[in-house]
Amino acid sequence: GEDSEPPLVVEDLRKTFGGITAVDGASFSVEEGTLTGLIGPNGAGKSTTFNLITGVHRPTSGTVRFHGEDITGLSTHRIANRGLVRTFQIARELEEMTVLENMMLAPKGQVGERFWHSVLPGLRGQVIEQEEELRERAWQQLEFFEIDHLADEYAGNLSGGQRKLLEMARALLTDPELVLLDEPLAGVNPTLEEKLLDRVHELRERGNTFLLVEHDMDVIMENCEHVIVMHQGQVLAEGTPAEITGNEEVVEAYLGG
Ligand code: ADP
Ligand code: MG
Repeated sequence: GEDSEPPLVVEDLRKTFGGITAVDGASFSVEEGTLTGLIGPNGAGKSTTFNLITGVHRPTSGTVRFHGEDITGLSTHRIANRGLVRTFQIARELEEMTVLENMMLAPKGQVGERFWHSVLPGLRGQVIEQEEELRERAWQQLEFFEIDHLADEYAGNLSGGQRKLLEMARALLTDPELVLLDEPLAGVNPTLEEKLLDRVHELRERGNTFLLVEHDMDVIMENCEHVIVMHQGQVLAEGTPAEITGNEEVVEAYLGG
């Protein structure tokens, strides 16, 4: 029932692009308050799965439920309004804007005008107050990720790691409950990597839930309590890090291609 099922439940999800089957009947769930890892070789369908869950792509078939409600095929805006978001890379055109401007634009790109109408109905039309509220939230996030000193820097001038921090800060601006992180540590140096993971754990202690795609197995094994393995669009295995490491099928999928 609605009360007993995990916040995110994906059932028999499929997505084809022309002749390519990117996701081929994937089923899994994500438990409340966990940091769950989603791993698998390149092309396994991880990013597509994220896009199907968050409404970027509409599944060919299958269902996505969030807190017991069918959200399959809803727009990214509607899904984000419910508290489920994924991180996005900073688009080329946003590199010419400052870090703070990127933050201010996030709700437009991420959740759209509907966010303001649903979350702040009393402020509808009061543009100045909306901007102030948004600016305050933006600063809070920049401070949390320790990039507030870069607020006036062009996003294009950020290092790879700083950019990843900004991507996370943007995704978290609207205080989502469940956050899908697609390779948030790619190109991040060890110091910033630790900082980013610390922030994730801190948020988790505050009640957030995370689904993490990451290719570094050590990061997955050290930080996730549950791991889902995808291979060729399907869930090949899932379990604790120890169970996954000891699974021959998983080892073969990685080494045998
Ligand atoms: P992963 O993130 O696990 O590396 P992806 O979900 O990106 O895998 O890709 C799974 C498969 O789907 C790949 O073969 C990829 O080329 C294909 N694919 C992903 N997105 C698209 C798209 N928009 N159009 C066509 N093919 C796509
Ligand atoms: Mg990917």
